[in-house]
Amino acid sequence: MKVTIVGAGLGGLCLVQGLRAAGIEATVYERDPGITARFQGYRIGLGELGDSALRACLPRALHPVLEAVKGDLAGERTRLNHRLERTGADSSALAVAIDRHVLRHLLLSGIGEHVRFGDAFTGYEPLPGGGVRAHFAGKTSSIDSDLLVGADGIGSAVRAQLSPETPVEDSGVRALIGRTPLTERFAALVPGFGTGVSDGEVTMMLGLMRFRVLPGVLNAMAPELGLPEAGHYLRWVIMLAPDHSVLARQDLSMQEIALELTRGWHADVRAVIEDADRDNSVLLSIRTVSPAERWPAGPVTLLGDAIHATSPSGGNGANTALHDADQLRRKLIAVRDGRLPLADAVNAYETDMIDYGTEAVAHSLRELDRFRRPAAAR
Ligand SMILES: Cc1cc2nc3c(=O)[nH]c(=O)nc-3n(C[C@H](O)[C@H](O)[C@H](O)COP(=O)(O)OP(=O)(O)OC[C@H]3O[C@@H](n4cnc5c(N)ncnc54)[C@H](O)[C@@H]3O)c2cc1C
Repeated sequence: MKVTIVGAGLGGLCLVQGLRAAGIEATVYERDPGITARFQGYRIGLGELGDSALRACLPRALHPVLEAVKGDLAGERTRLNHRLERTGADSSALAVAIDRHVLRHLLLSGIGEHVRFGDAFTGYEPLPGGGVRAHFAGKTSSIDSDLLVGADGIGSAVRAQLSPETPVEDSGVRALIGRTPLTERFAALVPGFGTGVSDGEVTMMLGLMRFRVLPGVLNAMAPELGLPEAGHYLRWVIMLAPDHSVLARQDLSMQEIALELTRGWHADVRAVIEDADRDNSVLLSIRTVSPAERWPAGPVTLLGDAIHATSPSGGNGANTALHDADQLRRKLIAVRDGRLPLADAVNAYETDMIDYGTEAVAHSLRELDRFRRPAAAR
């Protein structure tokens, strides 16, 4: 059995790791010219769903590295007003923090030749005798395989052909997402799991990414890991309701918008914005994809954001993509062992995935609701 995966994001890389460890031939084709091509380094809250999938797919030798690059999250979510006076606290779910960019590097370990960068998928055609031919613009022109997996994110070209009626929905909400090198002054703002600072109109959410062991230290011990250099940082997010007046200010950078929104706030919060790493701070549109009608069963399937893209407010998109990879891996192992025909394995995977994927998107949209309305209406 030969599997072609489109997209070297978290889901695609997790799947190729899991399949290769199971002795199944699999290769990932990625559009970007390299792993560092774009801003990708935000912090993810990894819960049991994603963590157990990662551990199932990564070879055991990499488990200690996975543990070392996590960050611990403990305690409650503190609520502060804009003068940094405590106004309350909420309980938190169990999770650890992980940096997406560092995790992608870890997921590349040992499978270098099975990940092809600079190959953008352009389309596919089912082959008369079974299987599928995938076409690429890049170094590769076409590849035949038994199964094609679209793990190519929210703008999935595989989904566009397989399920063209599945729409991408723009929630209208915009998010300012920044990261600021961690200092003692900034760490004091986050005594627990996370902190929300609010003036009643604008809320800024702060979270720590404090690596148990810095990636550079791990590289010094094992240079073959090739992890990116990264220091501890503070991740901050400000969500903006659709049509917030500040969004019309095209003359302002993302950082200037954040400073405008927090005018008059405590100096420590404003310093977080002022000291942000500009290369890793962005203004994002919050868009989602929810699985629409089921496509005809065949040698093409989807995983992760390509078929269920959540809003970051749900904190579950990466966890669900990793879970997909593990679920599909398990089904393909059953095919390898002669316990299931490939078509039944894909069908069983899709039936479950569409169910829990739909619920993951719905959960993230419920969490997003409070940011859709202008502050006065909340
Ligand atoms: C700011 C932010 C915070 C988040 N926080 C969390 C969190 O705390 N917890 C959580 O669970 N989730 C979180 N998420 C969501 C999570 O990051 C995504 O759900 C997850 O990365 C999806 O993984 P994926 O592999 O499906 O897709 P992606 O990671 O998007 O990867 C898709 C890959 O496909 C490639 N590609 C696209 N088109 C083509 C093509 N035509 N040919 C070849 N390659 C192609 C892309 O270049 C990309 O590398 C957050 C998201 C954001 C933006």
